[in-house]
Amino acid sequence: MSDPLHSGDSASRRLFDRARRLIPGGVNSPVRAFRGVGGTPLFIASAQGARVEDEDGRSYIDYIGSWGPMILGHGHLAVVDAIQRQIIRGVSFGAPSRLEVEMAEALTARMPSLDRVRMVNSGTEATMAAARVARGATGRAKIVKFEGCYHGHGDSFLIKAGSGAATFGVPDSAGVTEGTARDTLTAAFNDLDGVTRLFSEHDGTIAAVIVEPVVGNMGVVAPRPGFLEGLRELCTGHGAVLVFDEVMTGFRLARGGAQERYGVRPDLTTLGKIIGGGLPVGAYGGRADLMALVAPEGPVYQAGTLSGNSLAMAAGLATLRQIDAMPEFYEGLERLGARLETGVHAHIERGGYPCRLARVGSMWTLFFTPGEVVNWTGAARCDTKRFSRFFHEMLGRGVSLAPSQFEANFISAAHTDTDIDATVHAAGEALALAWAASGVVAPALSNAAE
Ligand SMILES: *Cc1c(COP(=O)(O)O)cnc(C)c1O
Repeated sequence: MSDPLHSGDSASRRLFDRARRLIPGGVNSPVRAFRGVGGTPLFIASAQGARVEDEDGRSYIDYIGSWGPMILGHGHLAVVDAIQRQIIRGVSFGAPSRLEVEMAEALTARMPSLDRVRMVNSGTEATMAAARVARGATGRAKIVKFEGCYHGHGDSFLIKAGSGAATFGVPDSAGVTEGTARDTLTAAFNDLDGVTRLFSEHDGTIAAVIVEPVVGNMGVVAPRPGFLEGLRELCTGHGAVLVFDEVMTGFRLARGGAQERYGVRPDLTTLGKIIGGGLPVGAYGGRADLMALVAPEGPVYQAGTLSGNSLAMAAGLATLRQIDAMPEFYEGLERLGARLETGVHAHIERGGYPCRLARVGSMWTLFFTPGEVVNWTGAARCDTKRFSRFFHEMLGRGVSLAPSQFEANFISAAHTDTDIDATVHAAGEALALAWAASGVVAPALSNAAE
């Protein structure tokens, strides 16, 4: 098909050209640059409900949802109203305020593992602070993370397993020191034996195990039965802190997050995304004895000029309260997710495509590999060229997906059966085109080459 998205005269293209002169890659967060799929990113002018509109006036069904926060859809009236009312009272005080107390009450009421909580400004800040608390509490240095899990861009977390038998991490990013990499141990997701081995090899030096209880950041990967329970047992047995990174899953997979859905209680939890209703936010919390270590009560320092920002608190509280106000909120998301899954799988079966749709609740990824993906090794087998073709065919049909094979797509409460059916229909055509050519026709990759 002709592809106006890649023509030289679109408004998105012109903005991208201006952006690339001044902003690294033209974007303020890497995946937005479309390097995983090629082509020009859409510059979004406005968003409402389940739809976004780009600078060229084209409208799309949106499954990015600001990467998770927009669980109510864009511009929900309750959230807009809360922000507008708060703006008049003041956007930031640098002093304690009522909404921060209400937020702490809202979070601890929904997640029983949270005795106490501290607000920060991003998920990255939350995981960095949780690691510091775990190290402060145990007097140990090492953190165990899982290959393919993303915990923000803190130095300790930009590590994945080296090849072969290497258990010491190697930095995934320039600028991360060897010393930091040495303190991060990695295991394969869903591999309890691997974690057991790490604990015996590094006995007494592991401060924490951090995990996305349902992974969203290598595409959606669910925990196998017993995996999270096993991590809980290992951490308890070895005196290590179990950290659930629920920045994505918190209040998305259940009212009490993935920990409620799977019935496993972590020592610390990190949050973000939904609890800011689309404004910058993060939080970490958990066991009372651990949180008592945080300054000014304890010796673990952590602070923030804009932490507990009143606009973010207002938007987040409005979001959480609106979720409670809508009857069968999570059941509704589950129903939409199942409708999408059933529809797409029917196309996959009819066409015999080696693809699999992975879904937990309202998070989903269409993996371009036939087998079930249970860890990063499996995800890495995906045919990313076919995915790119699929992605652009979807975009051409008015459906905006996450621009990478290794990301989650998000369904919001604003999506309707009609949106889902239109998406399934588009997916049927896009899958056929993605697998049609024996030699894959690559999308315009001119930007990715730069
Ligand atoms: C998004 C995300 C983060 C990072 O949050 P930011 O607000 O982008 O810093 C951390 N952990 C998980 C699981 C995430 O999905």
